[in-house]
Amino acid sequence: GIAIVWMGSVISLLIIYFNLQNAKITRDPLTGINNRRRFESFMEYKLRNRNSKSTLYLLMIDIDNFKQINDRFGHLAGDAALAAVAQAIKENVRTGDDVVRFGGDEFFVLFKDMPNEILLRKLEKILHAVERVRLEEYPELRVTVSIGGAYDRGKLSQILRKADIAMYKAKGRRNSICIYED
Ligand code: GH3
Ligand code: MG
Repeated sequence: GIAIVWMGSVISLLIIYFNLQNAKITRDPLTGINNRRRFESFMEYKLRNRNSKSTLYLLMIDIDNFKQINDRFGHLAGDAALAAVAQAIKENVRTGDDVVRFGGDEFFVLFKDMPNEILLRKLEKILHAVERVRLEEYPELRVTVSIGGAYDRGKLSQILRKADIAMYKAKGRRNSICIYED
C-alpha cells in the first residue's frame, strides 16, 4: 500500500514539474504573456481541431517608433513600455483569447470567436487602451501601436499574409488600424 502511495506521489510531482517547465518555456519573461512558441503550438492545435466552417481571427500589433522610445528614455523604459502594452492588450480581450509576444515590439492576438462586426471595435479599444498607457517613472513617455487584423477560413499562412498586409498599411499612418479586405 505504501509503495503505491509513494509511486503515486512521485508521478504527481513529476506531472507538476513538467507542467511548470512547460509554462516557463512558453512564457515571455519580460511581459509575462505567452511567447512565440506557445503561439505556434496553439495555432497547430487550432488548425487540427477546427471544422471547415470556423474562421480564424488574428491581430498583429506593433509598437510605433519603439526604437525612439528606447533611444530617448533608455532600454529600461522600453522594457516597462513593452510590459504595459502587453497588459493593455490583455485587459481588452477575453481570458480565452491567446495573446502572445511574437518578438521584439510585436504582439499577436488570436481570437476564439469573434463576429466580424465586432473585430473593428475590438481593435479600436486596444488602440485607445495603449494610448492611455502611463508610466510613473517616465511621465513624458507616450506609446502608440499600429494594428493589422485579418480573418480567414483557410490556411495559417494565408491569415498571416493578410494580417501582414493590413499591418503594413496601418504602419503607413501609425497609431491606426487596418483590417484586411478580400
Ligand atoms: P516602427 O514604427 O516602424 O515599428 O518602428 P520601430 O522603431 O518600432 O521598429 P523597429 O522594428 O525598427 O524597432 C523595434 C525595436 O525594438 C528595436 C529593438 O531595439 C527594440 N526591442 C526589441 N526587443 C526589445 C526588448 O525586449 N526591450 C527593449 N527595451 N527594446 C526591445
Ligand atoms: Mg515597431
